[in-house]
Amino acid sequence: SIMPATLAAVSNGAKRGILFKGGVHLEHLDSLKAMAFDKTGTLTTGKPVVTDFLVRDGDSQDEALALLASIESQSNHPLAIAITNFAAKQNVPLTRNLQIKDVPGHGIQAFTDSGELLVGNPRFVGKEIAESFHHGVAATLAEEGKTVIFLKDDKGIMAVAALKDTLRPDAVQAILNLKQAGLFTVMLTGDNEKTAAAIAKEAGVDAYVAECLPENKVEHLKQLMGKHKTVGMVGDGINDAPALATATSGIAMGDGTDVALETADIVLMQNDLTRISYALRLSRKMQRIVK
Ligand code: ADP
Ligand code: MG
Repeated sequence: SIMPATLAAVSNGAKRGILFKGGVHLEHLDSLKAMAFDKTGTLTTGKPVVTDFLVRDGDSQDEALALLASIESQSNHPLAIAITNFAAKQNVPLTRNLQIKDVPGHGIQAFTDSGELLVGNPRFVGKEIAESFHHGVAATLAEEGKTVIFLKDDKGIMAVAALKDTLRPDAVQAILNLKQAGLFTVMLTGDNEKTAAAIAKEAGVDAYVAECLPENKVEHLKQLMGKHKTVGMVGDGINDAPALATATSGIAMGDGTDVALETADIVLMQNDLTRISYALRLSRKMQRIVK
């Protein structure tokens, strides 16, 4: 049976948009030594916008964008949606209906009569050619915290798009609160090293893991649990669900995917990250009453 103090605390949480799927999850919060965060859609709004678009010398800007958008328009990844919207705003029509294959954590493979096209991160299209494109412009863009996406054909890199996602307005304060409460904070992301470093610095997390494939998130979480024992995980995507299930406390963003919401122990109904430290205080207060 649930203790009156727990019931009161769970109900206080609910009033502030924190949904606990049982009193035990409120109790766990007080024991957390570290908190892991997904980047896209969790620390950031998950609505990136295209800031830069560069093509290979001699190629048409509009044709390259039409090709890239024709591919991305078939994916519902946040980066794909942003690129499709960008092309529409530039009045660039989607020219081709290409056969595509999503490669989670990497990008998209597209098939044409003349061969294969790749859209995605440097690792996916080939690090060396990606890094040398336009004398290393990708590194500069990534250092600005932008996600850099390449379009590759049989001759090499045809175009690069840079996209900037913005931190949630409450992310910095939320991280600071947790650090002040004594928790170690970590960001886990599939994005590249330089972009991850820039966003991690903006957010103020103690550490980050970049180029983290969907299947690796749970491994990194287990490593953190090996070191800190009790670790929370905050996420929003399908990719985050295994880590949310593994964590001592799995916390989902209210706008997250159904799988994340179902798997989590706690849901932040209003996507407000500062509610996490409020929930921690609630847990601490409750434990004092119960003990
Ligand atoms: P995150 O962990 O940041 O939410 P994902 O695991 O979904 O990211 O993707 C990791 C990386 O894979 C992205 O940063 C991007 O470089 C690449 N990627 C994934 N899907 C796409 C896509 N549809 N178009 C271009 N690149 C993609
Ligand atoms: Mg996400």
